[in-house]
Amino acid sequence: MTPFSYQRPDSIDQAIALAGADSRYIAGGTNLLDLMKENVLQPRRLIDINGLPLHDIEETAGGGLMIGALVSNADLAWHPQIEQRYPLLAKAILAGASPQLRNMASTGGNLLQRTRCYYFYDTATPCNKREPGSGCPARDGRNRIHAILGASAACVAVHPSDMCVALAALEAQVHVDGPHGQRRIAIEDFHRLPGEHPERDNTLGAGELIVGIELPGEGYASHCAYLKLRDRASYAFALVSVAAALELDGKTIRRARIALGGVAHKPWRIEAAEELLCGKRAEQQCFATAAERLLQGAQPLADNAFKIELARRAIVRALSEAAGGTVR
Ligand SMILES: Cc1cc2nc3c(=O)[nH]c(=O)nc-3n(C[C@H](O)[C@H](O)[C@H](O)COP(=O)(O)OP(=O)(O)OC[C@H]3O[C@@H](n4cnc5c(N)ncnc54)[C@H](O)[C@@H]3O)c2cc1C
Repeated sequence: MTPFSYQRPDSIDQAIALAGADSRYIAGGTNLLDLMKENVLQPRRLIDINGLPLHDIEETAGGGLMIGALVSNADLAWHPQIEQRYPLLAKAILAGASPQLRNMASTGGNLLQRTRCYYFYDTATPCNKREPGSGCPARDGRNRIHAILGASAACVAVHPSDMCVALAALEAQVHVDGPHGQRRIAIEDFHRLPGEHPERDNTLGAGELIVGIELPGEGYASHCAYLKLRDRASYAFALVSVAAALELDGKTIRRARIALGGVAHKPWRIEAAEELLCGKRAEQQCFATAAERLLQGAQPLADNAFKIELARRAIVRALSEAAGGTVR
């Protein structure tokens, strides 16, 4: 590991002032420390943000919730307001990692965790995400876990988070503070597709700090489901995951939100697929139509064509479960 300095500011302004080109914020450290130990990242300065006042969950004037960036994944999933009003988010978080990891992992850090592409972690191989311009061995190499949607010639990695898939379906907003002031970013615009710059996972600017995640008032609490399909029943990242949320009027769909994980460089959401469901009866045939639209343009690699059929079935199943009522 490369030597680094360590500072623990106690105000947001101080933390931002300390941020520089070779620095990283550290929250739970469950991803950053692994990357440093493997020499994938070599920051010269760690800014420990755990002393900042970002540990609370508060109601917003608009009827939603503001989640501080340092709320742990465990505290978030088990918070009474999240369990009751946003069970989709609780289910997605609890589908990820392990209890110990969820105790350490923060809300902000979860958004910024890096891909689990084997080549990104293996510094003996090229990787455009780790070292821009060096190449992408995954495209013609081992690519069973990789993207089927939105990939580029430069990168076929997927975003590994479960929590972010639920946040995409819930249309959360990311609040950030930084050298140029405060702003909020719709979760849809927070993560990016790789294009020619896979080294950039998201649209955060240099030195910007995530301070909170805002959930809108609508949590789809009555009709939602999070389905995660993976190689092991626990402690494994998603091959495909689906966050499905419905607002029903009897059997008729008034509103639908669907986001996919494990298939692209960001949580995958296509509004046109959701619109196809509006006004329709909540039944398998129309769920299958939405699945086709969501997966339109999917391009498999040598080892991951199975993900297309897996995703198709998972979408139909998650929507069917959501239509049947949230399982508490
Ligand atoms: C074995 C294992 C299994 C896992 N399984 C899953 C899984 O199944 N599903 C899943 O979703 N996740 C899984 N994870 C990932 C885990 O959820 C993340 O590692 C965790 O959420 C990261 O949060 P953290 O606070 O530890 O981030 P850190 O490691 O502290 O930071 C991660 C990144 O975020 C940056 N950062 C942190 N906070 C902020 C902030 N407020 N503002 C700006 N930058 C910030 C850091 O600089 C760093 O770049 C797993 C992790 C491990 C180790």
